[in-house]
Amino acid sequence: GKEVEGKGEPTKDICGKRGPLFIAPTVKLFIDGKFIESKSDKWMDIHNPATNEVIGRVPQATKAEMDAAVSSCKRAFPSWADTSILSRQQVLLRYQQLIKENLKEIARLITLEQGKTLADAEGDVFRGLQVVEHACSVTSLMLGETMPSITKDMDLYSYRLPLGVCAGIAPFNFPAMIPLWMFPMAMVCGNTFLMKPSERVPGATILLAKLLQDSGAPDGTLNVIHGQHEALFSFVVIIYFLLKAVNFICDHLDIKAISFVGSNQAGEYIFERGSRHGKRVQANMGAKNHGVVMPDANKENTLNQLVGAAFGAAGQRCMALSTAILVGEAKKWLPELVERAKKLRVNAGDQPGADLGPLITPHAKERVCNLIDSGTKEGASILLDGRDIKVKGYENGNFVGPTIISNVKPNMICYKEEIFGPVLLVLETDTLDEAIKIVNDNPYGNGTAIFTTNGATARKYSHLVDVGQVGVNVPIPVPLPMFSFTGSRASFRGDTNFYGKQGIQFYTQLKTVTSQWKEEDASLSSPAVV
Ligand code: NAD
Repeated sequence: GKEVEGKGEPTKDICGKRGPLFIAPTVKLFIDGKFIESKSDKWMDIHNPATNEVIGRVPQATKAEMDAAVSSCKRAFPSWADTSILSRQQVLLRYQQLIKENLKEIARLITLEQGKTLADAEGDVFRGLQVVEHACSVTSLMLGETMPSITKDMDLYSYRLPLGVCAGIAPFNFPAMIPLWMFPMAMVCGNTFLMKPSERVPGATILLAKLLQDSGAPDGTLNVIHGQHEALFSFVVIIYFLLKAVNFICDHLDIKAISFVGSNQAGEYIFERGSRHGKRVQANMGAKNHGVVMPDANKENTLNQLVGAAFGAAGQRCMALSTAILVGEAKKWLPELVERAKKLRVNAGDQPGADLGPLITPHAKERVCNLIDSGTKEGASILLDGRDIKVKGYENGNFVGPTIISNVKPNMICYKEEIFGPVLLVLETDTLDEAIKIVNDNPYGNGTAIFTTNGATARKYSHLVDVGQVGVNVPIPVPLPMFSFTGSRASFRGDTNFYGKQGIQFYTQLKTVTSQWKEEDASLSSPAVV
């Protein structure tokens, strides 16, 4: 989109050293209804993960710019909160239409910056669009409650009000869907919003901001700032800038709530610090999702589902099914699983037929490869090894091919860490009870699935497993937006989840009115009528 392009300057890394002299487009800030060039002297390069070419530059917004963004949100709040709910709904109705009309363009931008296949990128936009569509039912979702005649002439009613300025911090892996979990829900309730997309994939958010403006959202109702890029920072500088930007959001008195999605390291910190400053915080974080395969499962479907859910989007999904537990005779299916995984085509996301694209950065690739190495050192067996994959024409990309590691034990590093790459770990047990114990002993509670044709087994698993989102013969059970995203335990901090009814609760507060209108008083105020 043209909003992500600017005149550009020679690229410069965060420490101020000049890089190679070429022009890269700059990503704008969106402040008070204008797409503006940051005055920052700290810029970070954005790379195409399939080639590692620099495709743009994103600023670390200055303190003055961040302040201007929050002030803009604050100024816009009173009139937006007072705008009739029907008018806010109309903005969202136009927005869902514009997202649909621009879906392919947003998806192309996602593939360029994030690397996932075009089909996955379209899915990314589509899942966010569903949240926008659901937000259009705000007129029902925001209804309060009433209790008439609690005593003589006295009624009790409550209604939902927006909080004020809310903020969102999003990860790199779903550049459209996750920002769309946040600002449309918050804004339709009457809040104004400060969005900080991931510095690695800022383009989709800027395009989405433009479409929201075109839908009639008044200036200042959404502001977008940028910041942070770990690859370019020294460790000390990373901590300095992360804390600077994060503390700004966590501490700012005018920000009432923070929605965060990303890693545990960042999420825990933001939750603690934001809460300490009196804010509501919801933090969706890391995961280790187990797929339990019973010997009575439909083998054909199960193996296809496992392969898609483990390796799709190069495993960079918080709901990726990254660990399989094969129960009893299902252990024998392992060779067939490997054969299916071998057939997946690894390529740049915009190439026809690609099943999975590259990882986000060279650092992410190195980390995933190190975790695979650690598995071999700790006694696991690599049945399929994607570490040395070469993709023709994209030799510099961050590709890792599908990798399957068996004989994994819960005490191994590769099991304990979230890998976030195209790596499927395989554990084996003799009984369902043992499988349930493994899943429940794992600290994360984002998603899990059981594959079986036995209803009682499925019910037992769903009932006993301590994970927030359970699939029965459904590998990636992300709830539709009329429900909420209900990850639990170490995958979530807060008490009100993203989107759905819980999302409306998160972005609103209740006011409860107890009122008495005595019949005998009526004559005092309007005698002529009574
Ligand atoms: P990340 O934590 O590195 O970054 C997320 C956001 O936080 C970015 O905007 C980033 O700039 C910012 N950030 C990074 N470090 C920070 C810090 N120390 N303090 C404050 N902010 C910081 O995460 P990522 O690598 O972009 O995303 C991958 C992670 O996100 C994985 O752990 C994945 O499981 C998780 N994730 C979870 C869900 C979910 O719904 N549970 C969904 C998507 C991704």
